[in-house]
Amino acid sequence: MTNHLFDTFRARQPEGGRAFIETPDGTVLTYADTERRSAQYADALVAMGLRPGDRVALQVEKSVEAIFAYLGTVRAGGVFLPLNTAYTAPEVEYFLGDARPAVFVCDPAQEAALAPIAAAQGVARLLTLDGAGKGTLSAAADAASATFADVPRGPDDLAALLYTSGTTGRSKGAMLTHDNLASNALALVDTWRFTLDDVLIHALPIFHTHGLFVAINVTLAAGSSMIFLPKFDPELILGLMDRASVLMGVPTFYVRLLKSPNLTPEAAAGMRLFISGSAPLLAETHREWRARTGHAILERYGMTETGMNTSNPYDGERIAGTVGFPLPGVELRVVSPESGEALGAGEIGMIEVKGPNVFKGYWRLPEKTAAEFHDGWFVTGDLGLTVPDGYVQIVGRGKDLVISGGYNVYPKEIEGEIDALPGVIESAVIGIPHPDFGEGVTAVVVARPEATLDEASVIDALEGRLARYKFPKRVIFVDDLPRNTMGKVQKNLLRDQYQGLYG
Ligand code: ATP
Ligand code: MG
Repeated sequence: MTNHLFDTFRARQPEGGRAFIETPDGTVLTYADTERRSAQYADALVAMGLRPGDRVALQVEKSVEAIFAYLGTVRAGGVFLPLNTAYTAPEVEYFLGDARPAVFVCDPAQEAALAPIAAAQGVARLLTLDGAGKGTLSAAADAASATFADVPRGPDDLAALLYTSGTTGRSKGAMLTHDNLASNALALVDTWRFTLDDVLIHALPIFHTHGLFVAINVTLAAGSSMIFLPKFDPELILGLMDRASVLMGVPTFYVRLLKSPNLTPEAAAGMRLFISGSAPLLAETHREWRARTGHAILERYGMTETGMNTSNPYDGERIAGTVGFPLPGVELRVVSPESGEALGAGEIGMIEVKGPNVFKGYWRLPEKTAAEFHDGWFVTGDLGLTVPDGYVQIVGRGKDLVISGGYNVYPKEIEGEIDALPGVIESAVIGIPHPDFGEGVTAVVVARPEATLDEASVIDALEGRLARYKFPKRVIFVDDLPRNTMGKVQKNLLRDQYQGLYG
């Protein structure tokens, strides 16, 4: 047996001298360096006592060394577990207690605070790694062998334990196998036409499926290279576009890039592809981007549990407000949440998926896992439909559906109408407990500073555009919508904040 995921990458990589990663300071790491450095991490981890299936948890700043630690963990037969850098000590304690990693790597500045927590959760080895790639973990790798006989792992063995973003409740650990990751990377290379010549601008965090598995695994599986930025910096990205070919971003990247006068057709002329995901891209952003650069952003849809499920086409039309078609090997259907029956085109229901990308289950939550599978299909929790020509459209999360007076109200439809009003930047429609209606449709709106909108003018403007039962009962104006690091609107926070609105 071989090491399924790492071998999938290795088999597609170019000969040694080509770049895998370049950093803004001009450092270039080739594929040969990657082979050696990941071997050192694997060797160091095994020397520390890591056994196949053991978790290696990291809460570290983005660095090239952290990528090698990921690859070293996979080669050592371990299970990689990255944690959001924003998590506080009590949150880290929860994750360590849940995942029980053998090794935990934190920032050197956090070591003193996290050491007692890690010890209390039974972590055998606590190591450090900082944003510059220095720490006791990289020091151990420095001292290790640059050749390593990969620990055999099959397609069905775990490669990663990745926690969901916690947008709808407590984060769940998704068990991802070698083939979940390998198959998805290959499907994306194919769909997005990645070749050895591509240069990806990497500005996403690497603790989430988007920056870690979509961006990095696709690069590895294509043998292409990436310019690795510590964080999102619009001007830096604009300056790099003439040397790069692809950008992967969350919608807020595109919104912020559009604010720069330096975003011009010339600046984007050398780029081949702009990809967006992790949260819905506003149709207006899609339109503005096309007008400013001549490029149609390609929107795709995925989640921690499945990797990517659908993508707009590379060659065909990329339709704003849709997430395109199921990827090769992925099946998607829309079912009635009430009857569980598959629905026809145009009907809104629960999106379910099946395929080699679908995870093995939630870590230590067998009942939750059983509840989220339906006849062998994974229940995504997202509501949507297929529109004519087979494009999939997401209308929102099942948990965000508002039931008012017995009617289903889909927030996205109302948000779309409100967002189209002059003076509105964006909106979030939520359900708030209401004594008469069960839930009251409530709109939270961000208006342009110069706009002269008020509650009554927003509601009046919906006259004739939406059925009465969909009208917001209240409209609340705010400066910003609460978002997490992946740009997802945190509707649960809005629901909490306004829960007493209707008494
Ligand atoms: P949790 O499951 O813990 O509540 P989460 O669902 O936000 O958190 P992720 O796995 O990071 O955690 O996010 C996946 C979700 O992101 C999808 O289920 C979907 O709701 C949303 N999403 C991803 N891409 C898109 C997209 N292109 N359009 C709309 N929604 C998207
Ligand atoms: Mg989710």
